[in-house]
Amino acid sequence: MYHYVRPTNPELPYFRHLHLEDFKKQLDYFAEQYGFCSMVDFLRSIKTGIPKTGVILTFDDGFSDHYQYVWPCLQERGLWGIFYIPTGPYHSAKLLDAHRIHMLLGKHGGRMICDALKDIVSEDMLSHAHIVEFRTLTYSRQKNDDYSNLVKRILNYYISYDYRQRVIDDLMSMFPPDERISTGQFYMSTEEIRQMQATGMIIGSHAVNHLVMSKLTTDNQEKEIKESFNFLEQITDGLTLRTFCYPYGGFYSFTEDTEKLLEDNGCLFSFNVESRDIDAFSLKNRLQALPRYDCNEFPYGSVRGQ
Ligand SMILES: [Zn+2]
Repeated sequence: MYHYVRPTNPELPYFRHLHLEDFKKQLDYFAEQYGFCSMVDFLRSIKTGIPKTGVILTFDDGFSDHYQYVWPCLQERGLWGIFYIPTGPYHSAKLLDAHRIHMLLGKHGGRMICDALKDIVSEDMLSHAHIVEFRTLTYSRQKNDDYSNLVKRILNYYISYDYRQRVIDDLMSMFPPDERISTGQFYMSTEEIRQMQATGMIIGSHAVNHLVMSKLTTDNQEKEIKESFNFLEQITDGLTLRTFCYPYGGFYSFTEDTEKLLEDNGCLFSFNVESRDIDAFSLKNRLQALPRYDCNEFPYGSVRGQ
């Protein structure tokens, strides 16, 4: 699993990303150590339930990094990848909240944003289960990166969705974003997505609004799934197949209902985040929650910008 892959941008000193050169080194490492699983072999293993060896590459969030830097690397090496796109930004022309948080942290660092957040967030904005946890949070952290993780936890999990957007809007007005950051630069264009699919890349859904699915009603989960697939079908003149990847990932980020909805909507397989190989059991019994490693669990995969 990859997210941001790019050269370092000095204007975003705290922006967490995998450096493009590290990505290339990691591809070399995978080639040598494990080899890559071809698309044909992978799809066959989905059908037969018999695992194949080799690495499969997935890229989340539809960043323009993937078109600009990743795609050329894959093409040079004759590799394929699965690209999971959240479709909301194509309707709203706005950055998703999750990514606005990354931009704020990348530019100003965790400590500064955390300080600002302390003044903005009140306990009535938190979902009940998290109030006690919030009260006991200590803000006396050592590293900037610890603060960044804290900010993400508060904004992604503790705050109820009724308030989150407003809190992030407040933060954005306190720390005005760089005007050059537009959705057009941040995410791939629909034309770029189409081009990638035409060269054998698989395009998958990462929902519409990149929310924690388990926090949504079943109806809203269904909307996220249906609308994102419909949009991707339209812009690509038909997807190669339907595949989904849970925003945030982890077993707490989706429910049995989510898996059933995916199944009912013709989704062939979905990716979770769980550090282990795809085994025969997963292929036979749990295609809507295939495990996946983070790139930082392998050599050269450490993020920069902390
Ligand atoms: Zn994501």
